[in-house]
Amino acid sequence: MDEKLKNLLRAVKTTAVAAGHAAGRAAEATGRKAGEVVEQTKLSLRIIDLEGAINDHYREIGRLVYASKDETVIETSTIEEQIRMIDEKREEIDQIRSKIDSLKRTRKCPNPDCGKRCNKDDRFCASCGAVLE
Ligand SMILES: [Zn+2]
Repeated sequence: MDEKLKNLLRAVKTTAVAAGHAAGRAAEATGRKAGEVVEQTKLSLRIIDLEGAINDHYREIGRLVYASKDETVIETSTIEEQIRMIDEKREEIDQIRSKIDSLKRTRKCPNPDCGKRCNKDDRFCASCGAVLE
């Protein structure tokens, strides 16, 4: 093998090993943070799943209402069951958002027209200016 090429490969290998060690140290230093990010991602994905399921319930309600045009009796109990399942999933989403708040050290703005996430230490909502108690 050409001597220049050998030296180049040796340099690349040394750099790669050093980079590997540095990456290992960085992962150790941010280990807890990385775990939190994974947890937040899992929780966010669960919210996406629940929102998808809620949309399926809305679709089913629409189908039931549409089907009622050919029937004399609307199956309100079936529609109510769909509404109940939507409410359950919305409640679970609220609980998950609270968990994400404690992981990210944020909280929900108390203004019902706003509801933006603010930093836990903020005194006012950055979006609407509401006082955060
Ligand atoms: Zn607000």
